[in-house]
Amino acid sequence: MSDFIPVNVPVLGEQERENLVECVETGWVSSGGAFVSEFEEEMAARVDRQHGIAVANGSAALDVAVRALDLDPGAEVILPTFTIISCASAVVRAGATPVLADCDPETWNMTANQVAEKITPRTEAIMVVHIYGLPVDMEPIMALADEHDLHVIEDAAEVHGQTYHDYPCGSFGDLSTFSFYPNKHITTGEGGMVVTDDDDLAERCRSLRNLCFQSERRFVHEEMGWNYRMSNVQAALGVAQLERLDEVVEKKRAIGRRYDELLSDVPGIQQPLPATDYAENIYWVYGLVLDDHVPFDAAEAMDRLDDQRIGTRPFFWPMHEQPVFREQGLFEHDRHPVAERIARRGFYVPSGLALTNEQIETVADAVRSLMT
Ligand SMILES: *Cc1c(COP(=O)(O)O)cnc(C)c1O
Repeated sequence: MSDFIPVNVPVLGEQERENLVECVETGWVSSGGAFVSEFEEEMAARVDRQHGIAVANGSAALDVAVRALDLDPGAEVILPTFTIISCASAVVRAGATPVLADCDPETWNMTANQVAEKITPRTEAIMVVHIYGLPVDMEPIMALADEHDLHVIEDAAEVHGQTYHDYPCGSFGDLSTFSFYPNKHITTGEGGMVVTDDDDLAERCRSLRNLCFQSERRFVHEEMGWNYRMSNVQAALGVAQLERLDEVVEKKRAIGRRYDELLSDVPGIQQPLPATDYAENIYWVYGLVLDDHVPFDAAEAMDRLDDQRIGTRPFFWPMHEQPVFREQGLFEHDRHPVAERIARRGFYVPSGLALTNEQIETVADAVRSLMT
């Protein structure tokens, strides 16, 4: 029997090893080490931002970014329902109110029209999340934000190296966030970053990630922060990984294109959009959505692929259907039909950087036999 094909395996190399050895040999393993600021500077520069603030993970980056905006209690923040819980929990933990928008059935991204419908006098921010490798159509969203004087947070955790027109994802709005979890385009094991052009916001983020220690009287606190610091060991990986980013994007696109070809005539499934007028997909993951007439759902498809030793993951489960939020009285009357449908009909197949051509063909064959 052939080996199991996991959804993702990270690729680490010689430079990563050398940087880690340097951490061990110099003893610099805490957040005080030089790789941290080097990674912050290089990552910020890569997305045309003035400041990078490295943190423990992508969820921490969202916590810090939302808190840094100092929203009024109960202020509304519009975000997609089709995303990871970290986005909504950051809003709730900052004492603001998450307001959800549905997504587009083709790009799986929240649209400006869907955002516009949710704007009220209490809205103070929009949290944009680029889903699965295609960016959100930013121009009309930035125009809305301008018109209504709203903050914008951009969650770019799934789009390192992606651009919107010619602008890097991670360069939009007041603050952008990244994750460097091993399934992201580049990894630090666990890790994240906030990037911004605003000096004051950068200062606030640095303080929030470091327990809000004060420089004058260190152990006197005017605000509660977190210990969300990134270690030098993580940043050592990040510096090496960042050098590979272009190569990674190229490889992910090649994997996506190969699946596109191999699956193009398979009935009953929707493939990811290869491109829009503003971007080419970088296929953070390769998602598939079962057509409505297919007599089984994503859970069953994933079970059957698992029987063929192929790893998969379900699509995000919508925020308005999360028990933890419903118990808090949130989203009681929300209906978001697109997100509800793709959550039940969508899953993604292996697309990690270590995937071989042969494995791609094995996966495609298995999907074909599932559907025919
Ligand atoms: C992965 C991810 C996060 C969370 O990052 P962690 O490092 O796992 O905490 C946040 N937002 C999006 C869109 C993600 O894909």
